[in-house]
Amino acid sequence: PYNGPRADEVFQKRKQFLGPSLFHFYQKPLNIVEGKMQYLYDENGRRYLDAFAGIVTVSAGHCHPDVLNAIFEQSKLLQHATTIYLHHAITDFAEALASKFPGNLKVVYFVNSGSEANELAMLMARLYTGSLEMISLRNGYHGGSSNTMSLTALNTWKYPIPQGEIHHAVNPDPYRGVFGSDAKSYAKDVQDHIDFGTAGKVAGFISETIQGVGGAVELAPGYLKLVYDIVRKAGGVCIADEVQTGFGRTGTHYWGFETQGVIPDIVTMAKGIGNGLPLGAVVTTPEIASVLAQKTQFNTYGGNPVCSAGGLAVLRVIDKEKRQVHSADVGSHLLARLRDLQQRYEIIGDVRGRGLMVGVELVTDRNEKTPAKAETAMLFEKLRELGVLVGKGGLHGNVFRIKPPLCFTKDDADFLVDALDYSMSKL
Ligand code: PMP
Repeated sequence: PYNGPRADEVFQKRKQFLGPSLFHFYQKPLNIVEGKMQYLYDENGRRYLDAFAGIVTVSAGHCHPDVLNAIFEQSKLLQHATTIYLHHAITDFAEALASKFPGNLKVVYFVNSGSEANELAMLMARLYTGSLEMISLRNGYHGGSSNTMSLTALNTWKYPIPQGEIHHAVNPDPYRGVFGSDAKSYAKDVQDHIDFGTAGKVAGFISETIQGVGGAVELAPGYLKLVYDIVRKAGGVCIADEVQTGFGRTGTHYWGFETQGVIPDIVTMAKGIGNGLPLGAVVTTPEIASVLAQKTQFNTYGGNPVCSAGGLAVLRVIDKEKRQVHSADVGSHLLARLRDLQQRYEIIGDVRGRGLMVGVELVTDRNEKTPAKAETAMLFEKLRELGVLVGKGGLHGNVFRIKPPLCFTKDDADFLVDALDYSMSKL
C-alpha cells in the first residue's frame, strides 16, 4: 500500500512551488500514485479505468513490462552521452521508425516533445521553401512554445505575444463547420488565404489528422488531398501532426494521414511514441532534412539511449500485440455503443472518431448545437466517482475525449459506456 504524501499536502506544495498556470482535472484533484496497463491507482488504492492515457500519451499501457525492461536494461549500461558519439539504440530506433512510413519519409530527427517536433518541422519548412508564411487550422493545437503557440488556434492556450506569419484556415469540422462535410469549400478557404493574405507563396501547411485538444474533430473526408495540392502549388510543404493520432490509434491505419489518403512531406510525433517517456520525432525526406545541414542542429537529449530503447520497445509492443487491429476492433464497438446511447439521450449531439480516438460532444439543443458546458462538467465528475477517467476538450469544454491506452478492451468500453449511461440518467 501507498504511504507517501496525501493529495492535500501535494496540492498545497504544488500551489506553493509550481507555477500558477498549471491546471488540474476534478474539483478534488486526484493523487495518482501507480499505473498498470489501462488502470490508474490513487493514494487509497482505488482503481480507475484510464480512458485518457495521460493526454493520449500512454500507448502500449501504463508501465508495460516490455517497455520498462528496455528502459531498465539500457539505463544500467548507459543513460546519456549525446549524439556526438555513436550509439546503436538511436540508429536502431530511427531505422524501425522510418520503416513505418510510406514514400520517401525516411530521415528522423529526435526531440523531446511535441512542441519541439513542430518547431523543428516549421523551421525546416521555412528554410526549405524560403518563405515564412504558414497555414494551420482553427481549433488546432500544435504546442505551447512561441512558434507553435502561433500555429495553435484555440484562445485558451494563446498568450498575447507576437504570432506572426501564420494564417488560420476555416476548420473542416463536419459537425460544427460552416460548410458541413464539403471538403472543397474548406479547401477554397486555404486558397483564399494564399491569394489574399500572402505574397502568393507559403512555407507550409500543418494540421493534426484528427484534432485532439480541439475535441477529437475529424477533418471532412478528402480535405487533406485538396489542401496538399493547393499548398504545394504555392511552393509550400505539407506537415502532418501525428502527436495524438499516430502509432495505430486510429485503427484502420498506422498514421492518421493515411485515413485521408495523403503522404505528407514532414510528419511530427510525440506522446504515444514513448508511452510516457519524454520523446518526440520529426520524420521527413532526405531532401528536406538536408536544409538543416547548412548549420549545426543539436538537441542534448534528442534520441538519448534510454528514450530510444524505450521507443523501440513501444514500436515492437504495438506490432507484437497487434494494437492497430485491436484499436479498430475495440474502437468500433465503443463507437457503436456510444451511438446507441446517443439515440437515448438528447444531450449527445455528436459521436465521432476512429479507433481509440473518440469524441462525444454534448449540447443542450441539437439544432442550435449549444455547448452543454455545465452538464459536461457535472458528468465528468460523476464518471470519476464511478471510477472512469476521460478527457475533456473543445473550445467550450463540452466534448468528452476518449483516448485510452491501446490495450483497452471491449469490456472496458462497456464499463465506460455503462458509467456514462448511468451518469446521464441522473442528470
Ligand atoms: N501537437 C498536438 C496534436 C498535441 O496534442 C500536443 C500536446 N497536447 C502537442 C503538439 C504539443 O506537445 P507537447 O505538449 O509534448 O509539447
